[in-house]
Amino acid sequence: MGQEGCIFCRIVGGAIPSERVYEDDFVIGIRDISPQAPTHILILPKIHIASLSELDDPALAGQLLLAAKAIALQEGLGARGYRVATNTGEWGGQSVFHLHLHVLGGRQLKGLG
Ligand code: AMP
Repeated sequence: MGQEGCIFCRIVGGAIPSERVYEDDFVIGIRDISPQAPTHILILPKIHIASLSELDDPALAGQLLLAAKAIALQEGLGARGYRVATNTGEWGGQSVFHLHLHVLGGRQLKGLG
């Protein structure tokens, strides 16, 4: 299953290897291949959704956000804090067009932009 040619669909399906740190019925969490912080996890829905702009299922939105919290706590980021972000579209800086949340932590994060 998944959208042909979508790298994150292939990661969900296991055709491309990843370091999976979290999985439930709806989403997976993997380590980013090019981490921007000591901890950098991506949370992907198992179904193909191109970006936040195409997300319309409130239950899945909740699953993604609660998975971000669960992963942050699992990764030991609860005490010092962390950031959850999703880049959307060209000007948002999105490079992979399968919706994902970034969970970043392990150092002091600066402003957005
Ligand atoms: P964005 O630019 O917000 O679309 O984020 C895409 C992220 O996917 C980047 O942080 C990349 O480093 C990451 N990425 C791309 N390919 C892979 C891969 N095969 N495994 C893990 N992370 C990846």
